[in-house]
Formats: sequence, C-alpha cells, structure tokens
Amino acid sequence: MEKLLLLSCCAPCSCGVIEKLARQGRTFTVLFYNPNIDTESEYQKRLAENKRVCARFGVPFAQLPYEPEVWQNAVKGLEAEPERGKRCSVCFGLRLARAARYAKENGFTVFSSVLGISRHKDLAQVNEQALQAAQKEGIPYDLTNWRKGGTEQVKTVLMRDMQIYNQTYCGCPYSHRTKNNS
Ligand code: SF4
Repeated sequence: MEKLLLLSCCAPCSCGVIEKLARQGRTFTVLFYNPNIDTESEYQKRLAENKRVCARFGVPFAQLPYEPEVWQNAVKGLEAEPERGKRCSVCFGLRLARAARYAKENGFTVFSSVLGISRHKDLAQVNEQALQAAQKEGIPYDLTNWRKGGTEQVKTVLMRDMQIYNQTYCGCPYSHRTKNNS
C-alpha cells in the first residue's frame, strides 16, 4: 500500500495539496524540514501554520529539528547567487535528501514535495534535486506537478478562510532582496 511523505516548506505552498490528498483519501504525512528559514521566530510561525492546516484535515504532521547551521554550511560561498541559482539547488538538495532519508527510515513507500509549487520557483530545478535524493536513498519520488489540478484555487479559499500567515520572502536571509513568496 502506498504511504506518501510530503515535504512542505510552509502552509501557503502546501495547503491546497494537503486538502486535495486528504479529499482523495490518500495515506500521507506532511514533513516540515526547513533549516533555510532565517530566524527562529519566522521558523516557529511557519511551523505553527503548517501544523494548523494539517490538524484541520486530520493529516499526520512530522517535523525535524531546526538546524540553520547545517544549511549555512551547505550554502557557504553561494550567498550572492540569485534566486533560482546555485544556492537554491543546494538548498533544495539538502532538504529533499533529508526528507528521502526520513521516508526510508520510517516506512514510507514514496516521497514528494511542494518546494516547486510557487511560480517564483523553477520546478525543473526542484525535480532534478529530488530525483538525485531519491536515487541516493533508494526511494521513489512522486513527480506530480502540484501546481495543476485545482490546488491554487483551493489555496486561495483556505488562505482567506483560515487567515493563514503568508510570508513575503522565500525563507533564507538572502531571499529578502527579492521579496518573493516561497
Ligand atoms: S531563496 Fe529559497 S530556495 Fe533559494 S536558497 Fe533561499 S530559501 Fe532556499
């Protein structure tokens, strides 16, 4: 039986997908692993909002420790890269590899993520990193394009109805420059 692990960056990016998977009766868990977020307070805010969405749909929620030093070490030397550049590849790769490992260690049959759902992101860049992580850990990655299938419309409704916190930058200290949503 399929058991899916969905890596999430935040409530705005994941809420439409969570609603859809829950409505379809899929067996899945949301994983929050985001060492890229620049401050503890911002991290806690996004974490709480993502938990709130999962609780609303009765979806299991898992989290890994906040370890910004791991992320900072990984992107050292790439601070000046633009969004969608090399720093983002490393950032995606780090989070997806950890999610793949968690999935393998905890009996999931497949993993996926919403890291590429925002139109500010390069979905092909996320998928490339995801497939590398999948190969390394020996667990398949579900390449579903979550931008499709009505998730955006559901997101709009949930953001309004649940008054979900909507951040104005991707997450890392260097993404403040572009002020993009994640
Ligand atoms: S802009 Fe976003 S994806 Fe890129 S490195 Fe920063 S947090 Fe990661």
